[in-house]
Amino acid sequence: MQSRMITLSQNEIPKKWYNALPDLPRPLDPPLHPGTREPIGPEALTPLFPMGLIEQEVSSQRWIDIPEEVMDILALWRPTPMFRAVGLEKALGTPAKIFYKYEGTSPAGSHKPNTAVAQAYYNKKENVKRIATETGAGQWGSALSFACSLFGIECMVYMVRISFDQKPYRKSLINTWGANVVPSPSNLTAAGRAALEKDPECSGSLGLAISEAVEDAAGREDTKYALGSVLNHVLLHQSIIGQECIKQMASVGEYPDVVVGCHGGGSNYAGLTLPFLPDKLGGKNIRFVAVEPKSCPSLTEGKYEYDVGDVAGMTPLMMMYTLGHDFMPAPIHAGGLRYHGGAPIVSNLIHDGIMEAISVEQKQIFESAVLFARTEGHIPAPESAHAIHGAVAEALKCKESGESKTILFGLSGHGHFDMGAYDAYFSGRM
Ligand SMILES: *Cc1c(COP(=O)(O)O)cnc(C)c1O
Repeated sequence: MQSRMITLSQNEIPKKWYNALPDLPRPLDPPLHPGTREPIGPEALTPLFPMGLIEQEVSSQRWIDIPEEVMDILALWRPTPMFRAVGLEKALGTPAKIFYKYEGTSPAGSHKPNTAVAQAYYNKKENVKRIATETGAGQWGSALSFACSLFGIECMVYMVRISFDQKPYRKSLINTWGANVVPSPSNLTAAGRAALEKDPECSGSLGLAISEAVEDAAGREDTKYALGSVLNHVLLHQSIIGQECIKQMASVGEYPDVVVGCHGGGSNYAGLTLPFLPDKLGGKNIRFVAVEPKSCPSLTEGKYEYDVGDVAGMTPLMMMYTLGHDFMPAPIHAGGLRYHGGAPIVSNLIHDGIMEAISVEQKQIFESAVLFARTEGHIPAPESAHAIHGAVAEALKCKESGESKTILFGLSGHGHFDMGAYDAYFSGRM
C-alpha cells in the first residue's frame, strides 16, 4: 500500500498561535478612524470586540498560548489530515509532488471553526451574551453558530442573499446549531433598508452584510461583533494550520517549494502560509501563492490604499488591497471569495513582493475541482478549488520544465453544501 495520508496524534495539536506581526519586514500601517482619518488605538474597537481579541489584534508577541478550553474543543477534529495527491499527480503526469492540507473534517466542514471557537471563548470570558456576524457562502455563519452553541452564546447571522438562496442547507446547519439567520440586505438595519430601497432585488455582498452586523452589534449593549477573516486575530487563530503542515511534511522528510491557498479575506491562506514566513525571511527558497476569482480580483487588480471594511463605512480604515468598499462582485459560486479587500497582513506582504497572487476564471476553477474529485475523491468547496487550480498550474509548469518540485496547497473545506454550483457547471449554466 502506498501511504497517502499523513496524520499527527492529538498531543501534536499546536499549543501556541503564531503571530506574524513582529516578523513583518515593514510594520502594518495603523488603522484610521473612518470619519477623521486619524490613527485609532485599540480602545476604539471595544464596542465591537472583547478585550482579549483586541489585545491579539495589536500584539507584538510572536507566540501566544492557546487557552486550555479552546484546545479541548479543537481536539474534536484536530490535527487535520494532510494527503499526498498521488491520484492527481498521476492524472497530470507531473514530476511534482503535491500535498494538500484538508480542513474539511471540522464539524462545519471548513477551516473557519479554528477561529470561531477562539472568538466565542474570548467573548464568553468577558460575559458577552450575543454575537452578531455576517456570512458569505454560509461557512462562517455555520462555524460561529457551532462555536456559540458550545459556549451558550446567542448568535445572529446576516447571510448574503445570493448564498441564502443558492445554499439553503447552510441555513439549516446554522439553525441546527441554534442560531438565527436572515438574508442580507435585511430590513432589520438602516444599512440593509438603504440597500433594499436602491435595489429591492439586491443580491448582497459581504461588505454590506458586515455593515448590517456591525450596526446590530454597535446598537446593543449585550451584543458584540465577530469577523471570520481579514483581521490580524483571525489570521493568528488560523496559524495552527500551517504549524501542523510543517510537522506533517517533516514527518515524511519533505519541505514545500511552493505553498498555494485560495484567498477571500485571507484567513485560510495566511493560516497556511505565515508559519513558513520566518523560514522565507531567513533566506529559504519558498514561494507563497494566493489564488482569487477573476470576478473579485482584490489582490491582483485592486489598489493598495486605505479603505473601510464594509459598504456603509462604519469600520476603521485599513491599509489593504481593495476594489473599493462599494464593489458588488458578480454572484459567482465561490461566495466566500466575494470580498472587496484583502487582509492587511497579506496585502503588506504582497505589496512588498514576499507573496504572490493570481486570479482565475470560474469555469477553469470547476474544471480543476472536478479533476480533483475524480482523482482524489474529496469534493472541494468552490473556494478551495481555487487553491487546487493554483497547485495544478504549478504542477503543469513542472511537467513542462521537468522539475520535481514539492507543492503544498490548502483544501480549506468540502463542497457538500455547494452541489448546486456543480449542477450549474455540469448543465452548462455557468
Ligand atoms: C470562507 C472560506 C474561504 C475564504 O475565506 P478566507 O478568509 O480567505 O480563508 C475559503 N475557503 C472556504 C472553504 C471558506 O469557507
